[in-house]
Amino acid sequence: MAEINVDYTEVIGKRTECPEGCGLCCLCQPEVLADEIPFFRKNFPKDLTVSKGPEPYSALALKKGVGSCVFLNERRCRVYSDRPAYCRQFPYHIYVGDKVKVELDLSCRGAWTGKGADAEAEARETVSRAYPRIRKASREAGEVYSQFYRNCMEAGVMRDPEDLRRSVIENIEGFTDLAYLGKVMDMTMMEPAVTLNGIGTDSPADREEIGEAAMDAAMESMEADDPVNAPVYCDEDWNWNIFLADREADRIDRFILDDRGDLTEKGSARISEIGIRPPETGGREVLRDYILTLNGRESFLGNVFSLMDANGYEDDMSNAYYGCLCTTILDILWRASMLDHFMGTGMGERGMREAIIFFDMDRLDAPTIGAFV
Ligand code: SF4
Ligand code: SF4
Repeated sequence: MAEINVDYTEVIGKRTECPEGCGLCCLCQPEVLADEIPFFRKNFPKDLTVSKGPEPYSALALKKGVGSCVFLNERRCRVYSDRPAYCRQFPYHIYVGDKVKVELDLSCRGAWTGKGADAEAEARETVSRAYPRIRKASREAGEVYSQFYRNCMEAGVMRDPEDLRRSVIENIEGFTDLAYLGKVMDMTMMEPAVTLNGIGTDSPADREEIGEAAMDAAMESMEADDPVNAPVYCDEDWNWNIFLADREADRIDRFILDDRGDLTEKGSARISEIGIRPPETGGREVLRDYILTLNGRESFLGNVFSLMDANGYEDDMSNAYYGCLCTTILDILWRASMLDHFMGTGMGERGMREAIIFFDMDRLDAPTIGAFV
């Protein structure tokens, strides 16, 4: 049987560690695979449950239904040697789309220190453990992607994704500029098929219009009715922050989730006061690197394709790709502005890193036509 080609470029040369006191990944309800269920059913029957959401799966229970996994005690795992496969995999994600790619979750603070284990070696080990699941998902994804490309051809909206990626790399500085992002967003709405040639950053950004688009993007997850669906940001002091927004009330509340699963309010702000600000010195470079990471991710492409499918193939792939990328960048910039408002993290290197830490796990909820396995 042919080997599956796996793309490790995102992890090559990186290191990861797991500093004490974090536990962020134990806030994601871990799926329990079929062959892991007997162990938990026999030893911890009350702690095995079914996840909430549109596609329920067997999972470990959360404290009070919203907190961390029940097995997290003083930010350490009580069943470490028997923890589920998905816990072992973190901070790596294996995405199976048209191609198979390993991603490094940048919400993990241990991925930013430059210390610890060799990420490529860990990723290869992770892939070898998950190989049967990858093989099964590849077969399914192959059919889905073939149908998707056929639909694009029939609708006349097909582009070569590699050309789109190359064009982003060639224009990467523009994507860190508010005026450029605003122009590209406008073009994706007005022109049948956008190319990036000749788009300048000479005119000033329409901050109000861009700010609206950025807030819309960020609110998609922060307007959650249930804190269990809201994104969590693990800050520099290892606090688990949850931000819940209410646009009608023009209010965003900051809570800290504690180890017992209780929420304590830590302040609020008027959404309209936050606005959007551009990245500053140092922050621009961090943002640029992250855009390049997104641009290389198969899961990002899978998200664009899923949106095209949901919109009935009305948009050219170039418009969908650039539009989705701009929206994502604006979401990150808005989050950076919000974190600065609450915590004074700024819009430089530190502020942009914190916004990416806040964002990178949240994006896993975006619909895609492939799958994380
Ligand atoms: S998110 Fe990263 S640093 Fe935090 S507990 Fe998980 S692996 Fe460790
Ligand atoms: S089983 Fe352990 S590693 Fe997995 S989520 Fe629970 S506490 Fe964290």
